[in-house]
Amino acid sequence: MRPLTAHIDLDALRHNYLQARRCAPEARAMAVLKANAYGHGAAACARALSDLAPAMAVACLEEGQALREEGIECPIVLLEGFFESSELDEIITGGYWSVLHTHWQVEALLERLTYWPQHRVTVLIKCDSGMHRLGFAPDEIQNLCQRLRAHAGIEQTLLMTHFATADAPDNALLTRQLDTINTLRTRLDLPGCFANSPATLSVPNARHDWVRPGVMLYGVNPLEPGHVLHDDIDRRLQPVMTLESRIIAVRELPAGEPIGYGARHVTRRPTRVGVVACGYGDGYDRHAREGTPVLVDGRRAGIAGRVSMDMLTVDLTELPEADIGSRVTLWGRDVSGATLSVSEVALWCDTIAYTLLTGVLPRVPRCYHRSDASNASMDARALP
Ligand SMILES: *Cc1c(COP(=O)(O)O)cnc(C)c1O
Repeated sequence: MRPLTAHIDLDALRHNYLQARRCAPEARAMAVLKANAYGHGAAACARALSDLAPAMAVACLEEGQALREEGIECPIVLLEGFFESSELDEIITGGYWSVLHTHWQVEALLERLTYWPQHRVTVLIKCDSGMHRLGFAPDEIQNLCQRLRAHAGIEQTLLMTHFATADAPDNALLTRQLDTINTLRTRLDLPGCFANSPATLSVPNARHDWVRPGVMLYGVNPLEPGHVLHDDIDRRLQPVMTLESRIIAVRELPAGEPIGYGARHVTRRPTRVGVVACGYGDGYDRHAREGTPVLVDGRRAGIAGRVSMDMLTVDLTELPEADIGSRVTLWGRDVSGATLSVSEVALWCDTIAYTLLTGVLPRVPRCYHRSDASNASMDARALP
């Protein structure tokens, strides 16, 4: 078998979920599992959290249906609501909580509820408190809420918003968003659901009734370096995905020789090059710069030359013991306990950890580990 595997540590996932709960003990925490649980495998992650999380959140009904098919029974929040009225019958009858962010959604839902007099639904009314992506203007919320509250088919209305800059240290936009949404919440006396991971971790007056941690569940510290809590949070979260492969070939090159496509790297000294079975066809970012770190049997080495579709090349000159078969950790925690954070790799690729994790492609088998299971289970099925 090709040695590239994404090992998924479900104990770490549970640990990180409990960290989110510890941050917001008064709130309930819905586990955000959209985009195939940020690339980790939504079904396995949902099952691993099913006894802890009172609700789960996904982007759309199709992602929710995939969880229902795995036997997930808790409320499933649709973070973008629905895209067509044809989704409504299933939303109303299937235990989904829809976000409502535009007028046509409100009208379509209230209309469709008349066909289901024995069903009541919970909705999240989304306020655009300043990010200017989805949501109603703050001054539209009161009327909408009155209509929803008056409707017999609405079980519960939560007030929702999303923050643009909760990851950055004290900043004016976050203050403005908090003022807007907290004023509205108090005035309308609605349960609030505002906090993504960075707000869950660092913004006490954003937590309220429900929090929506996503990336922190997967062990990524979402706070910017410079944030007072940054180092502390780094210690409290555990990486969930370890992307691991092996060296499949080694070359000894004299100085002055090119490596790989475009000859981007030319050796400046006699160089030992290791070829690793992992490339952009697996989701590894082709933007990785010269020197992007990997761990080879737990020790750091740097990428030399462009990432290709199925392979990448690393400079092993300082690691004479590395050879064909040596274990290569692209990110995560290797068997010796050495770690390389996906956030650090992301910096070298001019991106963020979110894109690297969600970018791991279906061709990479996920291998799930959980301490109470007698064996790790292998799940190599193509994932959505
Ligand atoms: C993705 C998402 C989240 C989770 O965000 P993280 O930064 O990953 O914690 C929360 N709320 C909404 C609306 C989202 O789309």
